[in-house]
Amino acid sequence: MRIIDPHLHIDRMKGKDAETLSIAGVEAAVLPTPHLLPWLVSAETLLRMWRNFLDFEVKHAKSLGITLRVTLSIPFYGMDTEAVGECLKQLPKYLEHENVVGLGEIGLDAGIEDEVKLFRAQLNIATEYNLPVIVHTPTPMEPQAPTVLKQIIKVIKEENFPLERAILDHTGRNTLKARLDSGAMVGLSLCYDKLRPEDAAEIVLENPDKRGKLLINSEFGYSSEGYFSVPRAVLSMRRLGLKREEIERVTWDNPKGFFDLPVV
Ligand SMILES: [Zn+2]
Repeated sequence: MRIIDPHLHIDRMKGKDAETLSIAGVEAAVLPTPHLLPWLVSAETLLRMWRNFLDFEVKHAKSLGITLRVTLSIPFYGMDTEAVGECLKQLPKYLEHENVVGLGEIGLDAGIEDEVKLFRAQLNIATEYNLPVIVHTPTPMEPQAPTVLKQIIKVIKEENFPLERAILDHTGRNTLKARLDSGAMVGLSLCYDKLRPEDAAEIVLENPDKRGKLLINSEFGYSSEGYFSVPRAVLSMRRLGLKREEIERVTWDNPKGFFDLPVV
């Protein structure tokens, strides 16, 4: 079974784990810049991270048999206004790199004014560069998740960004319906504080008419086993009796088409 993991923080994995992921069928992946990086205090640190992703991480993944592409964004928290301004100025130049396939993670977690401002600015850059976006939303456990999700959808509409070009990641059972009804792509992030692989399989089974909108990703695997959540979701879908083409629709066709990934 062919797998694309459209939200994989492969830079945090040990080499051996990344190789095992390749053995488990992950042939391609998208590495996003995280939305929350509190320790990020200077523009130069972020620019170095982007360069590391675009050069080293892409090549390293290739050596393990994984076609990796990158999404760039300016994380919230950490940097002061001046540093954020500098990164916004530099971002367009980096977006022209051949390994960039979108912006992300952008979005909201707390939903406060400074965060909204940065979200709007990055949505406008995505429009200008005709790129899709990965949107961070609060994890299902956070009490503000349903209200901030509504706020996110409102901001995307106000900025006239096409919802079908946005992945609303970090879905929980409590916000699934609102996401499916929004017209956006729905990212089922499998992680200890989000969904389990079995949950994702059930959601795919229960929503046959929404399968064109679903994506399954590993988000922060938090070491070893956690990163194999997408292959585990594939196993769960097989156990539930889903056919190969139904499984590959969500684990291959959707992410390939959304990011226009160079895989065959
Ligand atoms: Zn993430």
